Amino acid sequence: MPTLETVRALLPFVLEQLRGFSKIHVVTLTFFVVIYVLERAYGETPKRYLSRGFLHDLGYWFWSRSSAQMFLATAGVMYLMTPAFGFLRFDLLAGWNPVARYFVYWVVFDFTSYWVHRWKHSNSWLWAFHSVHHSQENLTFITLTRGHPFETLFGSLIAFFPLVILGAPPAAWLPLALFRTFLEALQHSAIPWRMGPLYRVIVSPVFHSFHHSTNPEHHNRNFGVNLAVWDFLFGTAVDHEPRPAEFGLKETPMPTLASQLFGPFRTIYRSYAEKRSPVTDFAVPDGQLLARPADKAD
Ligand SMILES: [Zn+2]
Ligand SMILES: [Zn+2]
Repeated sequence: MPTLETVRALLPFVLEQLRGFSKIHVVTLTFFVVIYVLERAYGETPKRYLSRGFLHDLGYWFWSRSSAQMFLATAGVMYLMTPAFGFLRFDLLAGWNPVARYFVYWVVFDFTSYWVHRWKHSNSWLWAFHSVHHSQENLTFITLTRGHPFETLFGSLIAFFPLVILGAPPAAWLPLALFRTFLEALQHSAIPWRMGPLYRVIVSPVFHSFHHSTNPEHHNRNFGVNLAVWDFLFGTAVDHEPRPAEFGLKETPMPTLASQLFGPFRTIYRSYAEKRSPVTDFAVPDGQLLARPADKAD
């Protein structure tokens, strides 16, 4: 448990990070406007922004950008970076130039995110929470923030853990989070970009749309968060197919905010009370997903 002194030492760092976050809100909002204008330029109607799901996503946006969530996530990451966890820090990149170092942080962070994402699909407890992200039927740039508060907190902490081991400074947290926000907002938009040959490198809007598809052929595919290379490397990529038209969960829809926030707990409770795996569109028994891709690679 953090001692009072550790908390006192952490506070200035956390507050500094939060100040940085509030400054970037303006940049982020500008980016959202650019995405919206591009969608209109490609002939998309604003219909999806008039759905109840969009209002829910707005709620997730305000929660995830609220000081409560930011404080918890930032404080958690900062705590992992304190001397208390010094034994975990190997400072493997000491002496590297900053550009190369940040590139390695990004790639390592993304590699971890890919595996954490696969874990969320193969573990029934984690899937119960992650399914909230998949419940959106009208994808928009803001769907990036749709996630059960438990999932977003857990995801931030575990994905940053390898950076702690590498010896990343606390300042690495902000640019990585910002860059990730930009790419993930683009991925959830309706802009029909495949990014040409870069389809196999960067996660494009078309690439990520397969991950949200209702077509069972696309389930548990395209896990990449920023880089698509991991899916091609580990045999979980969907390629050469037209963009799916339907998104969401057919068997376990979550049309209300209450079903999104409390549904995961009910799913877990039922799975134990009734001694069966939680039944959802995507759920696979623990471990099975990790063994599957090699024989079902596209
Ligand atoms: Zn997913
Ligand atoms: Zn998504």
